[in-house]
Amino acid sequence: MSDLHCPTCGASKIRLAARKSLSDVLLSSLTIYPFRCQLCADRFRTFLGRRTPNPRRSFERVEVSFPVWFKSRRSPTSSGVGYEGLIDNLSIRGCRIRSTAPIRIGSRLELEFQYSDNSFPVTIEEAVVRSIVDGAIGLRFTKLHRSDERRIRHIVDVWLPELLPSRR
Ligand SMILES: [Zn+2]
Repeated sequence: MSDLHCPTCGASKIRLAARKSLSDVLLSSLTIYPFRCQLCADRFRTFLGRRTPNPRRSFERVEVSFPVWFKSRRSPTSSGVGYEGLIDNLSIRGCRIRSTAPIRIGSRLELEFQYSDNSFPVTIEEAVVRSIVDGAIGLRFTKLHRSDERRIRHIVDVWLPELLPSRR
């Protein structure tokens, strides 16, 4: 089988997606699996030709180390105390922050991170806290401007290894 590409954007940065629906399960017996483009989020099915386990996540997080500033979006009048941390993994859908900030699961945060010395920070307008384990805050992006989304997609494209699932 030749290289797999996203049918929407043509990128080769694709990964197996989690199998959730009944048709996903039925088709997997023929090794027709769902995939996710890691850059445009398109989900599509294709024939793989060999069995593979069902992945836990559909968006692989790339390992990074970017300084981040964040604050709660609770209300427009709140004082908006800011915190610092380090983003240590990132996908187009979410990230993980290392920080000791007093944040609760379910909080909505606004964040800014810097991915190189000579770039404007990327702003995540809103992200919701999904997990907190030993100072690692798991976030899912819920509001993102198109231009920032494009920049995150570029970062993921640069940092994510090719590692095509079709490779033998
Ligand atoms: Zn794509």
